[in-house]
Amino acid sequence: MEVAKHIHQIPTPTPFYVGAINTYLIEDEPLTLVDSGLKTEEAEEALRAGLKELGFAFSDIEQIIITHSHLDHYGLMATIASEGNPRVCAHPLEVFDLQNPRGYANEDDERYHRTERFLLKSGLPKELLENILMRHPIFEQLRDPITVTQMVNDGDVIRLKHRELRVVHCPGHSPGLINLYDSAARVLLSGDNLLKHISPVPLINFPKDSSQPRAHSLADYLATLRRLKTLDVDIVLTGHGEIIHDMNEIIDSIVVHHEVRKRKVHRFLDGSPKTAYDVCSHLFPKIEAYHIYLGMSEAVGHLDILQTEGAVEMEERNGKFLYHSKGAPRH
Ligand SMILES: [Zn+2]
Ligand SMILES: [Zn+2]
Repeated sequence: MEVAKHIHQIPTPTPFYVGAINTYLIEDEPLTLVDSGLKTEEAEEALRAGLKELGFAFSDIEQIIITHSHLDHYGLMATIASEGNPRVCAHPLEVFDLQNPRGYANEDDERYHRTERFLLKSGLPKELLENILMRHPIFEQLRDPITVTQMVNDGDVIRLKHRELRVVHCPGHSPGLINLYDSAARVLLSGDNLLKHISPVPLINFPKDSSQPRAHSLADYLATLRRLKTLDVDIVLTGHGEIIHDMNEIIDSIVVHHEVRKRKVHRFLDGSPKTAYDVCSHLFPKIEAYHIYLGMSEAVGHLDILQTEGAVEMEERNGKFLYHSKGAPRH
């Protein structure tokens, strides 16, 4: 489906809660594909069929741009690249996970251990650790590593014959997530940064450089949204679901949603000190084990913000991070 001039959306299925992922083909020179879908037979068939309908094959793709290193956005890219010779663009902060043959959560990786320690200190029961998304071996089968040939940073312009795509670094959901902005067409390709019906979850994230502290993902994400509001955008081409025609309203509703949640967390911290897991259970009493990483990420994100605002204090006691409220949160 042509969703903007010379930009075609090709959804491919995923088994995840979020549903299908949208790949975009930009019919220009070079012929450009943004994000790919998973390495599954169903996704591969759907993408091949979608391209064929437009008169193209994997071997015709000359340029690949990956918004971020989550499996559903690049799992199939290595297959596509192997049939032609495309240049492959991504942000430097995503490159390691894209290229790593063992994927993004394995025991050789210091981030794995830092995350585990952090979650246990945050009160997550040990038995739930085994359930969380990042550990499930099946995820490794849904992707092949892909070599990035061109790193792109904030402000870089990717020039096509008939359009220019400005790279906008949008940390939050993932540290090196990029959006692509065509200011002439007022089009933004948003990856998972903005979705129509789901508020994207900025995940707990430890940087590859183990001397660096954990990212404050939710705070970063809210800063990213403020920045996007300064762009003139008519159409947001999202990584999942429907495209967005009212970007600023969607951004405002996400900001309000998080403001309400933050206050709920702050109220909950009146009284006895609580862990991030207590907060997660309070926010999402019926959360399934499978989604616990998302719930913990949301709880930790609000605690980070409240701490920065001076409304919450944290202390480490008996190997646990405990939070209690101090002042009023900022607006
Ligand atoms: Zn994602
Ligand atoms: Zn996604």
